Amino acid sequence: METLILYGKPVAERVRDRLKQRIRELEQRGIRPGLAVVLVGENPASKVYVRSKARSCGELGILSETFRLPEHTEQKALNALVEKLNADSRFHGVLVQLPLPQQIDEKQIIHRILPLKDVDGFHPVNIGRLVLGEETYLPCTPAGIMEMLSYYRIPVSGKHVVIVGRSNIVGKPMANLMYQKSEGANATVTICHTGTDNMKQYTRQADILIVAAGVPEMITAEMVKEGATVIDVGVNRVPDPGRKKGYRLAGDVAFDTVKEKTAAITPVPGGVGLMTIAMLMQNTVKAAEDHV
Ligand code: NAP
Repeated sequence: METLILYGKPVAERVRDRLKQRIRELEQRGIRPGLAVVLVGENPASKVYVRSKARSCGELGILSETFRLPEHTEQKALNALVEKLNADSRFHGVLVQLPLPQQIDEKQIIHRILPLKDVDGFHPVNIGRLVLGEETYLPCTPAGIMEMLSYYRIPVSGKHVVIVGRSNIVGKPMANLMYQKSEGANATVTICHTGTDNMKQYTRQADILIVAAGVPEMITAEMVKEGATVIDVGVNRVPDPGRKKGYRLAGDVAFDTVKEKTAAITPVPGGVGLMTIAMLMQNTVKAAEDHV
């Protein structure tokens, strides 16, 4: 059986096409969606993500502004900027790029962003709504994965979904989306983490295996069931002196060998990563609509 490669591009394009119509409708009412992005310090991956977010906004006609603060920024200064952006009516979405430097308490910042402007979907109010199955701003990466599964018509209801990783931004919201009694979900969910004994016994049971651990190529073919769907969230920079940049991007799944066993698999890059930004655009447009 031929393996289906789940590229993010056509799915992200479909999301953006739908947004164009919604943005036109907002424009007719004199509203231009706006996103404020805060970048603290010089984390190279964060700089790349922030640039992509601004580019994506530009392509859709969403107003975007990036606020850059130095690495040594103190909590008080960042708090003050978030408050200012909360109050700025040009911005319907406010996003503080994670991770933040050590001296900053990330939780305090996430809690400070107005839930109605929390387009990352990380605020406890929005996470609470997600758990309760209420409409909310969904965290972008898990929401993007749901969109991908729907686009490629991969059945979820009644399936066993195994998630490796329990972070607040990927693993936990992913699990909560998957078990909801709703269309496109309704799965049975298992979550693995560093406390899981003999992880292979769980991953091998997965109809859909979602990996968000941040460990390059940790999932090998023997850990995957024949015919499974594998979603690789990992984006890892692996040193590679043969390349101009000095590194290559690797997922959490050993793609070449795992692919042979799966019915469908996402590539890295070119898979889930493209969805995250598309869903951020969607949340920003929703925030503009909700503010009216
Ligand atoms: P994170 O906060 O570091 O969480 C990693 C999770 O994986 C933790 O729950 C950890 O368990 C678990 N884990 C780590 N090593 C493990 C192992 N050997 N066995 C079992 N579980 C293990 O990471 P994250 O923010 O969720 O990100 C995960 C990966 O996804 C990273 O590569 C990141 O770059 C990527 N990512 C990609 C996108 C995208 O748009 N494509 C978006 C977000 C993240 P414990 O809880 O026990 O420590």
